[in-house]
Amino acid sequence: MQRLQAFKYELQPDGEQERDMRRFAGSCRFVFNKALALQKENYEAGNKFIGYVAMAKQLTDWRNGTETPWLKEAPCHPQQHALKDLEKAYKNFFAKRADFPRFKRKGNGDSFRYPDHTQIKLDQDNSRIFLPKLGWLRYRNSRNVVGDLCNVTVSSNGGKWFVSIQTKRAVEPSVPTATTAIGIDVGIARFATMNDGSHIAPLNSFKKHQQRLAKYQRRMSRKVKFSNNWKKAKAKVQKIHTVIANARKDFLHKTTTTISQNHAIVCIEDLQVSKMSKSAAGTQEQPGRGVQQKSRLNRSILDQGWGEFRRQLEYKLEWNGGMLLVVPAYNTSQTCPCCRHVSEDNRKTQAQFKCVECEYENNADTVGAINILERGYRLLACGERVQSNRSMKQEPTEVSQLTVS
Ligand SMILES: [Zn+2]
Repeated sequence: MQRLQAFKYELQPDGEQERDMRRFAGSCRFVFNKALALQKENYEAGNKFIGYVAMAKQLTDWRNGTETPWLKEAPCHPQQHALKDLEKAYKNFFAKRADFPRFKRKGNGDSFRYPDHTQIKLDQDNSRIFLPKLGWLRYRNSRNVVGDLCNVTVSSNGGKWFVSIQTKRAVEPSVPTATTAIGIDVGIARFATMNDGSHIAPLNSFKKHQQRLAKYQRRMSRKVKFSNNWKKAKAKVQKIHTVIANARKDFLHKTTTTISQNHAIVCIEDLQVSKMSKSAAGTQEQPGRGVQQKSRLNRSILDQGWGEFRRQLEYKLEWNGGMLLVVPAYNTSQTCPCCRHVSEDNRKTQAQFKCVECEYENNADTVGAINILERGYRLLACGERVQSNRSMKQEPTEVSQLTVS
């Protein structure tokens, strides 16, 4: 069994390397945006989607042309990878897993990836890594990298630069120690609700920092753009964002570790953008003030949380020998688990479920989780082709050979 793992370290670049990294990230952003603009133009002209190979040919022209000769100063592979990123964004959009791809803005999580491991050298003894056109970079070595090098991503966050080294290695397939299966319903009022009625409260770190964030955002908007005070306020805003992101990462890791250690099979709904945006627009139990203005920010934060939740569950379950089943999302919150009656009227309020046929009553999220588990069992039992964890990248996986205890 193959295990993919990423090892992330803080880089300690010299001034020139830092400037180069900023430029390389900028060139990848430029390529991404230019390709996106081209794709849009092409679509409006009524032409077919431009595939990666054709787009990569365009990139060669851009690099060798007279209009943007500076593109050639940055390494080629990361720019090609930016095109792959765009193609992936389009695929996710076509599959209704994500919004339409957006243009990238400067400083918004700058990053670029070296996809070719043969161009990279890792010298762990001296805590340094060699990257094309950057040379040897020092990094804070906090733990050893294990496995064969696959690719390297360079990113910046909160004024610091990081390197993420992805490796693969063969490991013995683990036998799950847990034998139970659960269904999980994710939402806003409760981050995750299990079919047994237990739930995980949402991370309130965003709420906690919301006021401070709003304060500095207001402060920023009142300053003259690019003035020193504006820069100060902006740095503060970015710092709060980093704190929120770190708290969320920590929360998600703890949550997914616990779940994947305690259960062999976890069923979740296939999250769709429409559903997510609906919840963010204010189906929350008690929508707070200013939900409208905050909804966009709110939404991006929550969406990322759920996508990352699924991603982590997926690989952690696999590491533990378990599996994640992604079941189609339809009527999970309106179906009675007792008599299977489906009706919108079953859902009296956001929180309460009461069947109009048999009067079965329960918390609405718990009902959702029960139905998700039920759907997962049915898919396993019937051997239907379900969207399992790997299907984000590949074909649906056959799961009929599995047994559930
Ligand atoms: Zn019923």
